[in-house]
Amino acid sequence: MTNTCDAIVLGLGGFGSGALYHLARRGARVLGIERFGIAHDRGSSHGQTRIIRKAYFEHPDYVPLLHRAYDLWHELERETGRMLLHPVGLFIAGDPACESVAGTTLAAQLHHLPVERLDARAARLRFPGYRFHDNFAVVFEPEAGYLEVENCVSAHVAAAVRHGAMLRIGETVSGWSSDGRSVTVTTDRGTYSAASLVITAGPWAGQVLGGAGSAPGAPAWSETLRVVRKPVFWFAAQKEYDVDQGNSTFFFETPEGQFYGFPRLDGKTIKLAEHTGGEEVRDPLTVDRGLHPADLTRVSAFAREFLPGIDPEPVTHSVCMYTKTPDSHFCIDRHPVLKNVVVGAGFSGHGFKFTTVLGEALADLALTGQTNLPVGFLSISRFEQPSAAQQK
Ligand SMILES: Cc1cc2nc3c(=O)[nH]c(=O)nc-3n(C[C@H](O)[C@H](O)[C@H](O)COP(=O)(O)OP(=O)(O)OC[C@H]3O[C@@H](n4cnc5c(N)ncnc54)[C@H](O)[C@@H]3O)c2cc1C
Repeated sequence: MTNTCDAIVLGLGGFGSGALYHLARRGARVLGIERFGIAHDRGSSHGQTRIIRKAYFEHPDYVPLLHRAYDLWHELERETGRMLLHPVGLFIAGDPACESVAGTTLAAQLHHLPVERLDARAARLRFPGYRFHDNFAVVFEPEAGYLEVENCVSAHVAAAVRHGAMLRIGETVSGWSSDGRSVTVTTDRGTYSAASLVITAGPWAGQVLGGAGSAPGAPAWSETLRVVRKPVFWFAAQKEYDVDQGNSTFFFETPEGQFYGFPRLDGKTIKLAEHTGGEEVRDPLTVDRGLHPADLTRVSAFAREFLPGIDPEPVTHSVCMYTKTPDSHFCIDRHPVLKNVVVGAGFSGHGFKFTTVLGEALADLALTGQTNLPVGFLSISRFEQPSAAQQK
């Protein structure tokens, strides 16, 4: 079968839209396939906002990628004529030795990033709507802020189409195969072939990779990619939480867990959620999108203690999903066995800010098999199983 295009992107959410754009921008013939709409609310890339920051507590090796991510967000803004990244700042609050405060401080030091360190008294003066325990250290990163998540996905897809990308929307991929030189992708409407395949299926990645992707030596995908249900809440808040009053995005690490939120952006509500915890999801298609009293208990308790000026009964909620790897770092790599298949998965609840730069890395890997971007620490090999031959 002759290849109908250079690359197929399976799933056009956060990362698929980024990969589609970078493939099309460099002149590749690319087809994107998405089972729902563009910027839909059934996967992991919805809910209005995502935090973006550079002083990365999860690991300082992400910082060089974040420099490039910021540049690419600004390029996309220029290309689409739309502001997507709002640099309103971020404060991270908690015990000085906790993961987020200590890790942010370390990343900032190692990479000479501008951050301000405040004690609890200075933080209370600067952010009067919040409570800070006396032992808290607060790190404020002025270049951090938030991205308009759905608009970022739409902007990537629209710009990709302007560069010639083809789309199949409302079409579900039911199978794929690779003979090493070309891939064949089957959907509920047809069959397509290409030189390479980029799998960016978000919470469905484990299922998509589990079939043809479960070659000997490949990771046990169902164990490597675990999907977690994450409810997010909007609470009525007074003007003191408004972004115009100098409020930034925020992240608290308390003995109960890690909680984050956004300032009042719509003149009415603020968005709050817990980063830690979450129930495992068996099937992302049927994740429970309802609101249950237990969903709210921890976030309301956090709000009562640390945001005393908001009404701790939510106005509305949304359910999203994290796809977590065992070490909470991403998988950006060629498939360990099928080398013309590229995988972007396991973003563990902190990936969206990277959809520009890792879209670029996925495009590099799909077209040339390698990338100059420093993604080696995100290699799939850390989860590979010893093959039968190696075990003997
Ligand atoms: C509540 C919440 C808060 C978050 N906060 C932040 C944050 O503040 N900052 C940050 O950087 N990150 C954050 N993240 C993480 C970030 O949003 C995700 O890492 C990112 O959106 C994942 O994108 P994705 O492309 O992997 O998945 P998705 O965006 O879900 O895309 C996968 C796509 O593949 C499609 N698909 C799947 N299977 C098929 C198939 N068989 N056929 C066709 N199409 C298919 C799906 O329909 C979907 O559109 C948060 C995540 C959540 C849930």
